[in-house]
Amino acid sequence: MLSENLDYIKSQIPEGVTLVAVSKTKPHELIIEAYDAGQRVFGENRVQELIEKQDALPKDIEWHMIGHLQTKKVKSIASFVTLIHAVDTPKLLVEIDKQGKKNDRKINCLLQFHIAEEETKYGFSAEEVKALLQSEEVKQLENVQIAGVMGMASFTSDQRQVREEFKVLKTIFNDLKSSFFSTDDEFKIISMGMSGDYEIAISEGSNMVRVGSSIFGAR
Ligand SMILES: *Cc1c(COP(=O)(O)O)cnc(C)c1O
Repeated sequence: MLSENLDYIKSQIPEGVTLVAVSKTKPHELIIEAYDAGQRVFGENRVQELIEKQDALPKDIEWHMIGHLQTKKVKSIASFVTLIHAVDTPKLLVEIDKQGKKNDRKINCLLQFHIAEEETKYGFSAEEVKALLQSEEVKQLENVQIAGVMGMASFTSDQRQVREEFKVLKTIFNDLKSSFFSTDDEFKIISMGMSGDYEIAISEGSNMVRVGSSIFGAR
């Protein structure tokens, strides 16, 4: 049962770690079931589905956009999205700022890093982000809050490798935080860990896990 899955995951997650219930491809009924069991933070990876669900479901749900986001689609989620996890280009960051301004809000986002072996995954390198954070253009952005980092480990059964990749992301986070962010609550989210690897991620310092199939069943 869904609420039992949810209770189990919550029992595995320490206080201070946010559980994002990844509801992509799942119907409203299942989201309501999780909502009725107390879950309020949900993640989607497609803009159309996110908009449609946000419109139909309870308004106190916090919606996270966890998937790759095209610049031209920021506009359609800017009024409500709580956190954008996968910012992977300077252009996208600038557009989020622009749409934040239009909506008179500051939009929280995470910088996605490429930590996996696989070539296909999106994300910055640490060097790219250092240059980005030093640029005058980015320092001037007022309607986007860079709130932390996000990454996905390789799709492998080799737990040592997964652990190494999470360690890399944690190190990047620590470096950026000490070099570029002065106050403690400016830059504080480390979004790493999914159904198959959230326990390793938490032991390596994750404070936000994105769990789908272990809650809602296989897709
Ligand atoms: C689908 C997805 C998840 C959740 O994956 P599960 O293995 O079902 O837990 C987490 N993060 C991102 C970016 C995803 O696209």
